[in-house]
Parts: sequence; C-alpha cells; structure tokens
Amino acid sequence: MRGIIIPSLLYVFLIFGIWTPLLYILIYHNHVNNFEKKTQEPASIWSLERNLPRQVIHDSEQIPGPYVRYERPDEDETKEEKSFLKMSKDFNYSSSEFIDGFLKYGLNPILSKILGSEREVPDTRNKKCFQNHYPTNLPTASVVICFHNEEFNALLRTMFSVINLTPHHFLEEIILVDDMSNFDDLKEKLDYHLEIFRGKVKLIRNKKREGLIRSRMIGASRAAGDVLVFLDSHCEVNKVWLEPLLQAVAKDPKMVVCPLIDVIDSITLEYQPSPVVRGAFNWYLQFKWDRVFSYEMDGPEGPTTPIRSPAMAGGIFAINRHYFNEIGQYDKGMNLWGAENLELSLRIWMCGGQLFILPCSRVGHVSKRRPQNQPELTKAVMHNSLRLVHVWLDEYKEQFFLRRPGLKSVAYGNISERAELRKRLGCRPFQWYLDNVFPELET
Ligand code: UDP
Ligand code: MN
Repeated sequence: MRGIIIPSLLYVFLIFGIWTPLLYILIYHNHVNNFEKKTQEPASIWSLERNLPRQVIHDSEQIPGPYVRYERPDEDETKEEKSFLKMSKDFNYSSSEFIDGFLKYGLNPILSKILGSEREVPDTRNKKCFQNHYPTNLPTASVVICFHNEEFNALLRTMFSVINLTPHHFLEEIILVDDMSNFDDLKEKLDYHLEIFRGKVKLIRNKKREGLIRSRMIGASRAAGDVLVFLDSHCEVNKVWLEPLLQAVAKDPKMVVCPLIDVIDSITLEYQPSPVVRGAFNWYLQFKWDRVFSYEMDGPEGPTTPIRSPAMAGGIFAINRHYFNEIGQYDKGMNLWGAENLELSLRIWMCGGQLFILPCSRVGHVSKRRPQNQPELTKAVMHNSLRLVHVWLDEYKEQFFLRRPGLKSVAYGNISERAELRKRLGCRPFQWYLDNVFPELET
C-alpha cells in the first residue's frame, strides 16, 4: 500500500507544484496586460506629449507643440506614471463618460466631480519654509482668474482653495473673467454657486471671445488690490501660498514673482510636488523648465532661496498693479493663447524689473491635455510669437527665423505701439538679456 501512496503523493505534488505557479504566472501576466492596455487608453485619444522627446522639432511651418507649458522636467515622470498606475485600477477608461469628458475638459471629469469643490492637498513646501514669518501689514491682492470652457468642479476648487487658504485681510477680491464660455454649467449654475462668495468675487462675462491675454487685461482693469495675482482656472493653492509673493512685491515693486508650480495630474488629479526649477525657452520660443542644482541653494536661505528665472511658464504670477500698468500690461494685439508669458518675461527683465520663482509659495496646476489638431491655437501661437520676435529680439530674430524660415514673410499686425513702449521705457537690448539673465540660451 505504502508503495502506491508515496509515488501517488509524489505525482500529485509534481502536478500541483508545477502547474499552480505556472497558472498563477499566466493569470498575473494576463491581468497586467489588461491593466496596461487600460492605462494606455487615454493615449489613444490624446497625444500624451510627454512621451515624445521634447526637443524633437518638426519641419512643418507651424510652431511645434506640445502646447503644454507647465509640464515637469523628465526626471519626475516615473513618479507620475506610478501614481497613474496606482489610481487607474479604479477606472474604466473606455467608458464614454470618461472619454467624452476628457476630450471636452482635458482632465478626468469623473474624478473631478467626485472631488467636488473642496479638498485638502499635501503641503509640499520644504520644512525650512515653515520658519518664515510674514508681517500682517502686507499689501492686498486681487486674484484674477480667466476661464474659457473649463470643467465646473476644477473651477470651483480653484476658487475655494483661494478662499480657504488666503488670510482674508490680504484678499481684496477674486476677479473671475468668463471668456465667452459656452458650457451650460458655467452660466446660471455658476452664478448660483458663487453666491456664497458674495462681496469677495466679481464675475465679468466677456461679450466675445477675447483670448486669455486680453481677458487678463480686462480682469486687471477692474482690480482694486495693490498686487495682481493671476491664476489659471484649474489650480489649487497650497498653505501660505500668497504671503511670500506679497512680501517680495512689497519689498520691491518691480519684482515679479511666481510660485513653484506643483503638478495636478490630469488623469489621477493627484497633487504632486515639483522639484525646484527655473523657467527657460529655446530659439523656437518653446517654454521649458530647467532644473535648479542643489549647490545653487547653498546660501543662507538654503532651499527657500528665491530662484532667478529667465522666463515664467504661463499665467501664474504676482505683480504690483501699478507696475503692471507701467510696463505695458500685455500686448493686446496677441490673440487667444501663447507666447504672452515669454513676451512679459523679456519685458520685465529688459525694462528694469526682475522675475523670480519663490519655492516657499506652492500652487498646484492641472496640465490639461489638449487635442493635437487645433489650427486656431496654432495660428495664434505663431502670430503672438512673431509679435514678440519683432519687438524684442533685435538682431537675434535671425536665430528664430533660422529655425522657422517660413515665418519670415508672415504678417503679424501693427506693432508700432509696442515698439514705442519699448522706447519709452528705455529698455535694454536683447543682447543684455542674453549676457546677464539667460547666457544658457546659446546661438
Ligand atoms: N483661457 C481663456 N481664454 C482663452 C484660452 C484660455 O480665458 O481663449 C483661460 C483658461 O481657461 C485658463 C487660462 O486662460 O484658465 C490659461 O489657459 P490654459 O490653462 O489653457 O493655459 P496654460 O495652462 O497652458 O498656461
Ligand atoms: Mn492652465
């Protein structure tokens, strides 16, 4: 009997011992495959631009994309991917609710609705920032937020985070500029939800689409605070975000300051800390981030050191209201979106101001995904870039045209007012900017 039992047991053990792990591997592999397929689905409807090498320049006559200004430097992508994988299990990326909403808003509509109007975000500041104390008599701020067809909850979260995390005596008002949105929920429903902020919020509705550049000017013209603070309509500010900005502007009215932009993932909506960076660009006038090395923060202020920045990423910054008017606001001949950030950055540096990023002020921003093919936007970026080139680059405009020869003969409207402004302000040549602010921009 024993002679039969032992070989039988051995046989059973062999069968199960080999097949169970094999079966497990098979099931696991299948699961991972399905999971990966799911996580890739958004890439099939949107071009996930960060997967492309950033410096690849196409030959087309259009200013090359990606039109995403707040992306993080590449080093952070593994982290971003990981969080994306973690959350994506809960999602059915092929549901029409997700796809339609993602195409419409550029961010995860389902999660945004679940998060609603308020949430807490992690405090991403370096611990050294906690030691900073700010006076109680800082100037007041008018926060200007323009929006065009934004996701309703993301807009509300922007508003609530500002209200919740800003000491009320520093907040003169929030000015919301609706740039002719046509989404239903941004009409009466928004009016209804803003009732709660009555007295603190001014809502301006443009009668025609102006683009974000003129919309910001419209908002600024209605502001009463000492300092203008511009935000996008899909931001969440962090703890003590405003005080460092106000303090810097109070010390020097010609100092323009940006918070460090944390990333809110467009798919997971997770709030992720960013490394310390400075804003830069290339000769195509594409914005990019440059890492700041730790030795650059070796001084007495350590990781709280303000970072001198050749450029700002987009429209998240604070500026003395009178100084904004004095240096010529924005170029109102620019359309829709794009290049206004670089134009303002050059103008600040070349005309006697300074631009810094303050690592102790943190604001989260959703880098929304845009559809690739947007001829109107491409046209505006080209038009706006040409205006910048002709007003500010002097002989270095050839560097731009060397890379965009087709744009040399393209019309860019009348720039005489802006050229006049440059003269009136006694601005320095672009050569000075290259020598003193951005020597890394090599020809
Ligand atoms: N925006 C606007 N009008 C436009 C385009 C954009 O008011 O024609 C708003 C938009 O809703 C957002 C802000 O301007 O709140 C900045 O736009 P976006 O987030 O697309 O730019 P980026 O993040 O790339 O700077
Ligand atoms: Mn934005």
